[in-house]
Amino acid sequence: MNTKPSACPPGDAIRHALNRLVCAYVDLKIPVPEELAFMEPDDKRGSVRPAAKGGPAPGSRRFIIPTCFSPLYSADTPTTSMRKLGPVAWHAVAQGFAEIEVPELIDPDKLRRLHAPEYVDDFLAGRQPLASSQGWPWTPEIRDGVLAINAGQLLGAELAMKHGIAANTGQGAHHAEYARGGAFCTFNSLALVASEHPEWKCLVIDVDTHEGNGVGEFAARLDNLWNFTIFGSNFGGRGHSRHVKRRVKGPVASFAPYRKALNEAFAFAEKVKPDLIQYNAGVDCYVEDGLDSVGLTAEMLFERDRLVFEFCKQTGSACLYSLAGGYLRDMDKLVSLHVGTFKAACAAWD
Ligand SMILES: [Zn+2]
Repeated sequence: MNTKPSACPPGDAIRHALNRLVCAYVDLKIPVPEELAFMEPDDKRGSVRPAAKGGPAPGSRRFIIPTCFSPLYSADTPTTSMRKLGPVAWHAVAQGFAEIEVPELIDPDKLRRLHAPEYVDDFLAGRQPLASSQGWPWTPEIRDGVLAINAGQLLGAELAMKHGIAANTGQGAHHAEYARGGAFCTFNSLALVASEHPEWKCLVIDVDTHEGNGVGEFAARLDNLWNFTIFGSNFGGRGHSRHVKRRVKGPVASFAPYRKALNEAFAFAEKVKPDLIQYNAGVDCYVEDGLDSVGLTAEMLFERDRLVFEFCKQTGSACLYSLAGGYLRDMDKLVSLHVGTFKAACAAWD
């Protein structure tokens, strides 16, 4: 565990990551977005040839996070939830923080082992009301995105166990309950990892500004799953020994109350001694986010992320992080906050 994943020189690693991203679009027959259009694959699986505009400047960084993303993740959702995923992946790669791994669609039987099978089947078929229980009109694009993101969480968990740290640029998990979705969450990919790996002790450290009530429900069902949720907005989950709730009332005047809650999460983790920590790194705690923000500044978000990643590294728990909430309409700002989590991970692991 904790082996650094990339042996490439930094410039080559970024080029390889961009190549994989472009090839994923080509293989899936999805138009390559404008941001990537200046990179042209020389052949189906060959190297990427930077076109006239040139590729990103090779960075000086050495550590690159194995990061799950598929172009299928992106879907037109009423909130920024799934619209932000492509831009975050692209910027994390272009800034030299991420190496892309492309998941397939998940086998629905894995979801039926976790959730009520009739809920899974209704979502897959677009049958109402359950198909929209997370709050969005159902579309095939959202369905496929959800299936890819859940596969990405399982792939990411394996990558984290292998390399010590990995990312999944997915969102929308922690409110999903056994028999339905909720609050932009369809299937509970965080609980899914525990369900598919009963041999692992799995801890979720959830810093999204909303309580992770769905993970809490699954923690009562799966005896290898623990949840520590630090939130500003309570979703009414029943607290129990494997679902610990800490509310930080916003807007905070300083980072101190949040740091105190994080320290409690770390003390809990030291008792659990997990094999894998899934870090649900919501940026809806950001002061300008409109949905129940705790009031953290960008600097506080970075400090929060850095502390979690350093804790994981120091204690030897593998860490898989995912994006979670973040609803700013200013996409550039929103993306920069999520990419800040990648930056913090690299800072802790360099
Ligand atoms: Zn949230």
